[in-house]
Amino acid sequence: MSNLLLEEMTWPEVRDALASGTDTVVIPVASIEQHGHHLAELTDVLLGVNAACELARRLEHALVAPAIRPGLSEHHMAMPGTLTLRPETFRMLVEDYVACYTQHGFRTIILMASHGGNIATLDRMADTLDAQYPSVRVIAAPEVPTNAELNTLTAELGLPEGVNGGHADDRETSEMLHLAPQHVRMDSARPGFTGRVTPEKRQEFFEKGVLAFSDVGPVGDPRGATATRGEWYIAHTAERLARDVMAKLERGNG
Ligand SMILES: [Zn+2]
Repeated sequence: MSNLLLEEMTWPEVRDALASGTDTVVIPVASIEQHGHHLAELTDVLLGVNAACELARRLEHALVAPAIRPGLSEHHMAMPGTLTLRPETFRMLVEDYVACYTQHGFRTIILMASHGGNIATLDRMADTLDAQYPSVRVIAAPEVPTNAELNTLTAELGLPEGVNGGHADDRETSEMLHLAPQHVRMDSARPGFTGRVTPEKRQEFFEKGVLAFSDVGPVGDPRGATATRGEWYIAHTAERLARDVMAKLERGNG
């Protein structure tokens, strides 16, 4: 099957896919939020849908749901255009997606965050939903790469420390240059916070918001991004993510 996007299929195509055993759905849970002076606010939507397709292709028997576009982005609200959902709206939206796909016969549902602010909530929700629907597996895809892994990747690539903090950084910008260059303004690219991002720093970012770190927006430095490296980041993280998801599906949630 070439097209994995559920919203671009007809209902008989979805019915036939289910009948032939395609019973896994990946739900990209993204954000509409500031991504510095150089990336459009839909960045996490495009990167998330692409990563979900890469995952679905590797899992086989899997399709990709329409992205949940706004997420939990309170920490980016200082910059205009950012949308954030109330936690209960976010939760109900994810619950409704899962209820619909369960009703139609999907048996494995993967909640996949493409935005850091969604991760903790999705992790908790996956456990609850998995218990709520005994005949369906609901898991949250693990975060790939984590900030620690990003630091290692950055060193392996021989890039300066601090270019990849996880937001509108070298990786996100490179991936966008590869996938959707029309949404990148490299002439306007400016660095944001380029200190080391530890789990504590990240928590501080969620709590204090972006302005406590940078009045530009990125966590990282996007100025050296390239489309070629974007393609590499995508392939590298897709392999890792697929391995981790398969392991998690075999192991169970607990
Ligand atoms: Zn992003």
